[in-house]
Amino acid sequence: MKSVWSVLSILCLAATVLVATVPTVNIIDKSVYSEKRFELMSDYAKFHYSLDSAALVSPNMVIIHYTAMPTLELSFKAFKPDIIPKHRERLSYYGDVNVGAHFLIDKDGSIHQLLPLDMMGRHAIGYNHKSIGIENVSADGSGLTVRQVSANAKLIAHLHATLPSIKYVFGHHEYMNQSYPHFKEFHENDAEYRPSIKLDPGFSFIKALRAKLKFTYGLEFEK
Ligand SMILES: [Zn+2]
Repeated sequence: MKSVWSVLSILCLAATVLVATVPTVNIIDKSVYSEKRFELMSDYAKFHYSLDSAALVSPNMVIIHYTAMPTLELSFKAFKPDIIPKHRERLSYYGDVNVGAHFLIDKDGSIHQLLPLDMMGRHAIGYNHKSIGIENVSADGSGLTVRQVSANAKLIAHLHATLPSIKYVFGHHEYMNQSYPHFKEFHENDAEYRPSIKLDPGFSFIKALRAKLKFTYGLEFEK
């Protein structure tokens, strides 16, 4: 009898640990989805990935960014239009759909969802068809906050619980690092559409995020 109680208490403990590692998150709906945007993203997916549509199926990576803008309002304003502004000449040459990620996290840690998880966003050349994108409001790497680190970790732990296909978490500045395991997933049909060097979100932020994921949620992803 004693051993039955021991087993039960171990099971209860295991269940408690499991519940503790799947956080609930408060997500504010700030959708920029439209049928037009889905069509334009589908054109992008056909041209750059040879895929039928912008449907995002079993994403296996989360890519972290900052917006290079100082406020939530300015960042949202940049992502809202369906079509990329003409002044972004180089990007606009390779596709009409505007840039956009799935989530936008403000400096206070509030999480805003811009795109549904079953649709591709245009946020990282070569990986849009495989990834969930998280943008953080900040003009540069030095403006990112501890609250944003916590919110990113919490959101990723939450996403991982519903999308177990997620295997890699990395920063946009790491995306072309060929020594990292995620690089084998890179795909771009147009050899002239070369990925540029990115600085976001930077070494310090990603290091803090990986530590938070490991020590708070027991999660370690591949780079
Ligand atoms: Zn970026």
